Formats: sequence, C-alpha cells, structure tokens
Amino acid sequence: MNTTIQSKIHGLIKNIKNEKISHNDQSLFCSYFYDLDSLKTHSQEIVRELPQSCQMFYATKANSELPILKTLSEDVHGFEVASLGELELIQQHFPNHPIIFGGPGKTNDELAACLKSKQVELIHIESFFELIRLSDLCKKNKQSCDILLRLNIELPSLPKTKLTMGGSPTPFGMDEETLISCLSFISRQNDIHLKGIHLHLASLQTCEETHLNLIADYFDYFKKLQKHGQLTLNHLNVGGGIGINYNDPNHKFNWRYFCSKLDTIIKNKELTNTTIRFECGRYISAFCGYYAIEVIDIKETHDQNFIICRGGTHHFRTPYAQGHSHPFTILPIEHWPHSYTRPELKQATANIVGQLCTPKDKLAYNRHIHHIRVGDIVIFSHAGAYAWNISHHNFLRHPQPDMHFIKG
Ligand SMILES: *Cc1c(COP(=O)(O)O)cnc(C)c1O
Repeated sequence: MNTTIQSKIHGLIKNIKNEKISHNDQSLFCSYFYDLDSLKTHSQEIVRELPQSCQMFYATKANSELPILKTLSEDVHGFEVASLGELELIQQHFPNHPIIFGGPGKTNDELAACLKSKQVELIHIESFFELIRLSDLCKKNKQSCDILLRLNIELPSLPKTKLTMGGSPTPFGMDEETLISCLSFISRQNDIHLKGIHLHLASLQTCEETHLNLIADYFDYFKKLQKHGQLTLNHLNVGGGIGINYNDPNHKFNWRYFCSKLDTIIKNKELTNTTIRFECGRYISAFCGYYAIEVIDIKETHDQNFIICRGGTHHFRTPYAQGHSHPFTILPIEHWPHSYTRPELKQATANIVGQLCTPKDKLAYNRHIHHIRVGDIVIFSHAGAYAWNISHHNFLRHPQPDMHFIKG
C-alpha cells in the first residue's frame, strides 16, 4: 500500500473507532474506502500515456459508484455500458459523455433505448439475431445506427488465462461463420452502418508483452478483414482485460511501457488513421478501493489458524471469484475494554475468513501473520473493481459495510 494513502486510511479508521468508543457504540468495524485522489491521478496517467489514435472508455460494470464515475468522467473519453440500468445511470449524470453499449443478451428495450439516446455512439453487436432485431427497430423508427461487430475468433497469440473469452465456446461475440452472415446482411441494409470490430478476448492480463502480442493480432485481423471484405472500417475496439497482480500487487502492469510499445505497433502496422478504443474496468478502478474489517475471533482447528472477521465474501467476492488469496495489511487497535483476555496470534500462518456459514467464505489463505488480535482491523487493498458490486449482499443478512469516499 502506498504510504500516504495507508496513513490516510489508518487515520480515518482510528477516528471512526474513537468516535464509536466515545459513544459507547459496540458495533464492529466494516467499511469500504475509496481513495478518489489516487483514482484521479491514476486515470489521468492512463489517458495521458495513450498513443494519439487511442481512446479510453471506462467499463462501468467494474464499479459504478457515482463518486467513482464522477472522478473518472473528468478524464476518460466515455463510458462503456452493458445494461439499461447502466445506460440510464450514465445518461442521467453524464449527459455529455459518449456511450458505447455492449454485452450479450441485449433486449429489444435496450436496443430501442440505444437508438433513442443522443449519447450512444456505437452498439456492439454480439449475435446475428441481435443484428436482425436492431435492423427491425431501425426500420420501424426510421432511424439509422452505427455498430461494431464483436468477434470471438482464434488468434495465434491468444493466451490461456482464467478468463479467456475468445477462440473457445463462450456466449460472447461471434465466430467467423456468423461474421460472414452479418457482413452479408449489413451489405443489404442502408440503416446499419458497420464502423469496425470489437475484440475482448482475454481478461486478467498481467504481462505487457502478452497483451501487446494479442493486440498486434487484433490489428492484423482488422487489416485482413478490411482487405478481403473490401470494407471501409475506421474503428477498432480492443476491449479491456488489463489485470491486477493480486498475488504480487507490487508487480503492476506497466501501462506507460505498454503504451509506448503500442504506439510503435500502431505506426508499423499503418493504423494511425484508425480509432483504437480501450474499454478498461479493473485496471482503472481496482487500486482505489479498500475493504477494512474488524477481527471477531481467532481460532485453531485441525492445525490451521482462522481469523474470523466482520464481513466476508458477501461484501467482497473478488478473491473467491478469481481464486486468489487477497493482499492485506493489519492495523493494530489498542483499545480493549473487556475484562476477559484478548485472543491473539503471533508469528503464525493463518486464513482470513468472513462470517458466512460456508467454507468458501475465504478472503486470504496460508498467509504469514506477524501479530494480530481480536479487535484489530484487516485492510484488503485493490478492492475497487468487481468487489462490492459483484457480491451477494443479502446472503445471511449481516449488516452492510459503510462506504467512505476520500477526497482532498
Ligand atoms: C468486462 C468487460 C470489459 C472490462 O474488462 P476489464 O477486465 O475490467 O478491463 C470490457 N469489455 C467487455 C466487453 C467486457 O465484458
């Protein structure tokens, strides 16, 4: 954890704890913190480093808390949404930002809302049937619309990561056979304008070279399609998918290096006149979030130590969703008002778990603990993306965490 942010969050937690103590409030500590200042610095840098022909849209689904969106809106080029709910949220609060609409299973209502919206710039079409339905709506409304076709194709450098979404059966995008049917259909319409293609074939990419190779393959495919299909395409969406090294958070994807290499590839492949658009989520918002929870109990069972905290995967599903042990730090809290002995653990290996009645409620495992006591606070970093918003909040009906947005 960055030391300034660390001391800022420690200070805030201590203030909240002291406030509780002075009011004799026995409730246990459980909060999300979002550092909007570091989010701002990070997103500014991401956009600043982009090669000239590139744009950065934020994938709203990664974290759609309003203060997060507001902070990002100052720097990103627009928002990627994948539901009517996300579309309405962005339209309501950011009426001047361009929007792209993607995602499988679009309803007719969603497609109609896209056509009606002045902000939706492109619809990413995921299937042949979706294209037919959009075309029908265009005719009924006497409207035209700009689209990208989302592809799921095999590429030479497609990595095999946990969240690979391409070159294998998934509900996302279309294979070449369907692409050909779509192209033939589009060529007979005058109200559907194909601007380019969309490829989001891998997530959780933590190696710059691997991701550069994948994008270089996207470029080659795009050029091949233009040439063989005799199409004038000027737009290529390369998706998101930049990962976070949850197991080794100090090893951060080097965005600046990635962008400088990308710039060279764009020039070498003569794609400087094509708009290349990113739609990143995780890499933008993960770093700004922290989930801080109080230790309730410490126990040993069958030779393993368990540190049980207020909260769990119903608030913070990220480690379970990705199958990793999540990075954390411990904030010691000195206050101990009870007459009974304070349980503690010193120089031991332990699992950090939540309060749910399921063995899957694990946040960190096999971690060395220097010292921890009941009443101390465990702070999970990198909790700003696919964290609170992907969790099953009502499972067991425990209290929900407080939300703190830190600014200035
Ligand atoms: C989820 C998603 C993204 C964002 O992915 P990240 O891994 O968060 O960068 C971008 N595009 C599509 C189509 C997605 O489904």
